[in-house]
Amino acid sequence: MKKVLITGALGQIGSELTSKLRNEYGKDNVVATDIRVVENSEVISNGIFETLNVMDIESMGELAKRYEVDTIIHLASLLSAVGEQRPQFAWQLNMGGLTNVLEVSKELNLKLFTPSSIAAFGENSPKNLTPQDTIQRPSTMYGVTKVAGELLCDYYFNKFGVDTRGVRFPGLISYVTPPGGGTTDYAVDIYYEALKNKKYDSFIAKGTQMDMMYMPDALQAIVDLIEADGSKLIHRNAFNITAMNFEPDEIANEIKKHIPDFEFGYDVDPIRQSIAESWPNSLDSSCAVDEWGFKFDYDLNKMTVDMLNKLKAKNL
Ligand code: NAD
Repeated sequence: MKKVLITGALGQIGSELTSKLRNEYGKDNVVATDIRVVENSEVISNGIFETLNVMDIESMGELAKRYEVDTIIHLASLLSAVGEQRPQFAWQLNMGGLTNVLEVSKELNLKLFTPSSIAAFGENSPKNLTPQDTIQRPSTMYGVTKVAGELLCDYYFNKFGVDTRGVRFPGLISYVTPPGGGTTDYAVDIYYEALKNKKYDSFIAKGTQMDMMYMPDALQAIVDLIEADGSKLIHRNAFNITAMNFEPDEIANEIKKHIPDFEFGYDVDPIRQSIAESWPNSLDSSCAVDEWGFKFDYDLNKMTVDMLNKLKAKNL
C-alpha cells in the first residue's frame, strides 16, 4: 500500500484509521473521503480530504485517478441497528457503494479492503467458536448485505483478479469517534456513562455474549491484512477475527474495579436484543492467524484501563 483512498473516513473506524495511515505512510499518501463534513475534525484539517458520495462512481474513479491511489479502504456503510430502521436504503447504500468500489478497483487495478461483520452470521450458524466457513443465513438487512458483499468480493477476485481483502469485525470499542448505530454500541456507551454519570442501563440483555475488539487492534488488523502476502491467503475476504467475548455483566464488573460506585442495570431494546441473539457468542479466528498472522494486544482488562484513562483525559 503506497497511496490509499478511504471512504467513510469520518466514521468510527475511518477517523482513527486515517490518522494511523497518515502517520505510517505520510500525509500526502492518504486521501480521506466522506459524504459529509464535520467541524473540528482532524481527518479534514490534518491532510487530504475530499467529499465523496460512494454512490457516485464517476467522482470516485476521478478521485482515485487524480491522486493515483493504489488501494481503496471502503468503510462507508449503514450499520446494523440503523439498517433495520431503513432496510431498503441499507441495501442500496451497502451494495451500491460496494459495487462501485469494486468496479473502480477493477478498472484501475487497485487493491481493495472492505470489512464484513459478525452480522454475516445468523440464528443457525454455530454459536460458539463459529467457524470461518459455516452456515450464513443472517436475519438483518445489514447481515444480508454483508454476506452478499463477501460473495461479491470473492467473485471479483476469482473472475477479474481484483485483489480484494476483508475481515469480519466484531463490535469495535473506541474513544475517539462515537459508533454509528450498531448492536454492540452498548459496550462503548457504558464507558462514557460510567465516567459521566456513574450509572448505565444496558440495551443488551443479561447473558448475551458477543465478540468485541479494541480499536487499535482493529486498525492493525486492517494494515496487516492489506500488507499480507496475497499468495498465502486462502480465504482473502471475510476473515473471522476477535479479541474477546463477554456479556454485559462482565464489562460492567470490569469497570466497577476502577469505579466501585458505578451502578449498572438493564433497559433492554427488543430490536437490538433480537439482532444480538442472532449473532455468534464467540468466533474462531484461526484462519486469520494461520493465513496472515492475525494477533491482538487488548483483552477486556487492558482495554478497560485504557478506555477509562483516555476518556478521562478528554474531560467529558
Ligand atoms: P460509521 O457509521 O461510524 O461510519 C460510516 C461513515 O460512512 C460515516 O462517516 C458516514 O458519513 C459515511 N457515509 C455514509 N453514507 C455515505 C455515502 N453515501 N458516501 C460516502 N460516505 C458515506 O461506520 P464504522 O463503524 O466506521 O464502520 C465502517 C465499516 O466497518 C462498515 O462497513 C461496517 O459495517 C464495518 N464494521 C464496523 C463495526 C463497528 O463496530 N464499528 C463492526 C463490524 C463491521
